[in-house]
Parts: sequence; C-alpha cells; structure tokens
Amino acid sequence: MPVESSTQSSTDSQTKRPRPRRGEGQWALGYREPLNKNEENKKNDDGLNVRRRIIDIYSKTGFDTIDPADLRGRFRWFGLYTQRAPGIDGGRTAVLEPEDLEDRYFMLRIRIDGGQLNLEQLRTIAEISTTYGRDVADVTDRQNVQLHWIRIEDVPEIWERLEAVGLSTTEACGDAPRVILGCPLAGVAADEVLDATPQIEQVYTEHIGSPEFSNLPRKYKSSISGCSHYCTNHEVNDISFVGVSGPDGTPGYDVWVGGALSTNPMFGQRLGAFVRPDQVSQVWAGVTAIFRDYGYRRLRHRARLKFLLKDWGAAKFREVLEKEYLGFSLPDGPEPPMEPNMRRDHVGVHPQRDGNYYIGFTPRVGRVSGRTLAHIADIAEAHGSNRVRTTADQKMVLLDVAPEQIESATTALENADLEVNPSSFRRQTMACTGIEFCKLAIVETKQRGADLIAELERRLPDFPEPITVNLNGCPNSCARIQVADIGLKGQLVTDANGQQVEGYQVHLGGGMGLNARFGRKVRGLKTTAEELPDYVERVLRRFLDQRADGEAFAT
Ligand code: SF4
Repeated sequence: MPVESSTQSSTDSQTKRPRPRRGEGQWALGYREPLNKNEENKKNDDGLNVRRRIIDIYSKTGFDTIDPADLRGRFRWFGLYTQRAPGIDGGRTAVLEPEDLEDRYFMLRIRIDGGQLNLEQLRTIAEISTTYGRDVADVTDRQNVQLHWIRIEDVPEIWERLEAVGLSTTEACGDAPRVILGCPLAGVAADEVLDATPQIEQVYTEHIGSPEFSNLPRKYKSSISGCSHYCTNHEVNDISFVGVSGPDGTPGYDVWVGGALSTNPMFGQRLGAFVRPDQVSQVWAGVTAIFRDYGYRRLRHRARLKFLLKDWGAAKFREVLEKEYLGFSLPDGPEPPMEPNMRRDHVGVHPQRDGNYYIGFTPRVGRVSGRTLAHIADIAEAHGSNRVRTTADQKMVLLDVAPEQIESATTALENADLEVNPSSFRRQTMACTGIEFCKLAIVETKQRGADLIAELERRLPDFPEPITVNLNGCPNSCARIQVADIGLKGQLVTDANGQQVEGYQVHLGGGMGLNARFGRKVRGLKTTAEELPDYVERVLRRFLDQRADGEAFAT
C-alpha cells in the first residue's frame, strides 16, 4: 500500500472537512445585520418613507439633489426608476456605472391590481401620459401601465391625480409586494370558478403599503384568480391563488408558491391546501411573512422565494405556514383541472354571463400612447361600457358591450390599430421595455417586436397555429421568454463579418399548463437582430412541414 506524504494527507483531510454553512441572511435565524448594500439601505430607512421626501423636498429642489440611496433604491417603492439615457449602446450596459446609464427622467409604473380600470381612471392615466410623459405608455405583462419621461418636479401632481381616482404607484416596484394579478374577466366570465375581485381588494387594502411587508428580501409577485383559463399564469408567480371547486363543492383556491422566471427559472409548486375566499388575505400574509422572515437576503440573485421553496420543499413550507404563521391547518384541496394546449388570453369577442359581450383587443407588444388610451375610453363610453381591463399578455379588454354594439365597437377599435381578430403573431407576441428606456437592456425590443409581427404577417399570412414569440432585452425575463414557444433573449452576437451586433439567444418550446416546461436553450442557437425575421420564419415553416396532425408547436 503506498504511503501518502503527510502534506497530501493533510490536504485531503482539509478538502473533506465540511465547510461551515454561511448564513443566507434569514431574519428568522438571527441574521438581522445587513449582509449587502441593498439590505443596508433598507435597514437605514424604509422604502415607504421616501414618499414624503419626494413631495416635500426633491420635487422642489430637483433631480441633482436626490440622495443616491433614494434615487437608485427607495424610489422603486413608489414605482419610479430612472430611465436609460438615450444613445448608450447595449455593449456598454455592463461596463458603465449606473449613474452613467441613467437619464434625468423616470419610468413611472402605475399598479392596476386585477387589471381593473373604470373610464375615469383610464382617462386620468391618458392625461398624465400626454401632459407629463411625452404621450408614451406601455401596458405591461403584469397588467400595469408604465409611463416614461417623467420629471421629479411633476411626481406630486401625478400622484394627486392618480389618487383622486383610486390609483396608486405604491410598491409598484422595489422589494415589496407588487401588483396583484387578476383575471380581466373577473365577475363577468360565464365559465369562471369564482370572482376573485373581493380577495384582491382585501389583500390590497390590508397589506399593500404596510410597513409589515415593505422590507422583503426582493420583489414579490402575487396572483389571485378564479379564471378557468388560468390567464394570470399562476406557475410563475411567487404566490398564486388559483380558483378551484373545493372539497364540498364550494369554490375557493388552490395555493401555489415559489414560481419565478428570470435567470434561474422555476415553476411554482402546489402546497396541496384548499383556501376559502375569506382566508385568502390571512394566508397571503402568512406566505409573505415566511418570505420576509426566512427568505435569503445575503445574495441578491438568491433572494427570491423560489430558492427557499427549492430547499424546503412544499411539505415543509406548508407545515411552517400552518404551525408558525396561521395557527391552524388547511384542508387538502384539489388540483386545478387543466386541459392540454389551453389558450389563456381573452382576445376577441365573447359572451359574458349577463348577456353582454367582452371584446379583447391587441395593442402591438403593449405599446400605446396617452392619446390611444383616451381614445379607448371614448370608444368604451360610446358603446355603453364603463370598464376596461389590462391583461397579463400586454393586451386589453372592453367589458359590458351590448350585442347590438359589438360590430360598431369592434370597427372603432380596429380603426385605431387595436385588432380584435389578430394574427397569431399580433395576438401572442410580447416584448419587454428594452434598450429604449431600460438601464439593464442590451438590445432593442419594442420596435423590433412590432416590426417582427408585421414581417411575419406579411410572410406567413395564414399561419394557422397559436404561437408565442417573446422578446427580452437582457437575461432577465420581464417578457417571460422561457415559457414562450420562441423566446428571444437579447444579447450581443457576432455577425458574419465578425462584428458584435444586437441579437438574441433562442429558447425553443417553452410553455405553461399541463406540459409546463422551459424552452430549450440550444447551444449556439443565436440570431442577429437583422436576421431575426428570417430565422423565425424558417423555424415556423419547418414546424408546418414536419408536424404530425394536430401537433402544437411546443409538443
Ligand atoms: Fe429591462 Fe431586461 Fe427586463 Fe427587458 S428583460 S425590461 S431589458 S431588465
């Protein structure tokens, strides 16, 4: 038997010794001292406190007087991010300091919980966009509306106008509970399991803007929906309440936790528990408190609920929820009954349960303008509707249209380039904010998405299948690229001449529902932005040529 040198043997014993586990910064385990700059800023002053400084000081003293910890941190608690300065190419995104990338204008995110707007609210957003935001507005895939070009001097007046009609930007961004997704047809859909509007309102009233949950490890996304088409994508929210028929036949919710996309995508998991409607707010608070207390705070990229759920598993998560936070057990409940290849959006003209109709229509990749939003309000009013909804697919819905008004309302929307019977490409393509305004972006997305739709409509005018093509401007996943049929992740790529140019890493075959899976990132599968329409056309033609009868793109 060979004799090892003492040096070798000592090295081995060192490598075998288990390393002491570093703390993850979990408050419940005693890590109350901040372990990074973000945590330090939050400890120094709650994000919610910046509102008074914006109203009393910064709006009067101007952009240059804003404390950097407020500007690049706490402002987010009120939906404010500095937008990207024009003319900085994507190659410099990672190498410049944040202050070199930012403009003196802000993106302002208005939260629209449940996507529910009346016409007064819609007109208020429209007026703010035209008055203060250079007439730009984006409907996001979380049912918010984002404005751009906002000056700090105008923020108090904007808040006054929003709050006068019951809207707010509180916790629209930041390490806090963000907008609560809800089905745009809540309360009107003929086939909904239940109307989740009262539960969304209760969670909003009891918990949003409360210091109890204003310092979470990171962002926290919620959905509460009774939609039988699962249009709020419960699989990719931190917490989702999914409408189901309960053990005794009464409607309630199945709880899912820990879903999120971004750079380490994970689908949410069922806790297997049934929640009555009157328990939703309490259970929401319990799950959110687990995230606050046990969530990882040391490393920013691990500070989402999904990482805790991955380590604990659903059974332990439920046990902690029931024993430490609720003080009672929840009964087991059924799984939502999903069908293969369900369409989740609400585009087109369809009956409501009261005999009226809803009309789902499609702004291109969510980009609208203040004037367009005002025009939508006028169309709604002229056709007897006082309710407009935003969807989780960057689209919108007009509610309560009488049968005899459908044709006129549809024509009015389509005359405004808001297609009601769109192509597959127009219907399902989404694009994130991208390099036009986002400081993290590497490539352009909104205009390129709109151009791609037009080009595919021209080249494949009768493409018969639903197809989701989503574009992101960077490795984050604001436009859900990993669950798209064709997901495009913005990055610099090398073109045929050896030049670094804007392009996309391609993810193929993602989807949600029964066969939920993340798109395959095929090594080397990249396209330049210029070649994007050719690339997508090739993929789609190959699919049409080779598919079996009835085969969907993602199967
Ligand atoms: Fe910005 Fe990236 Fe999100 Fe697009 S995906 S909005 S570029 S952070």
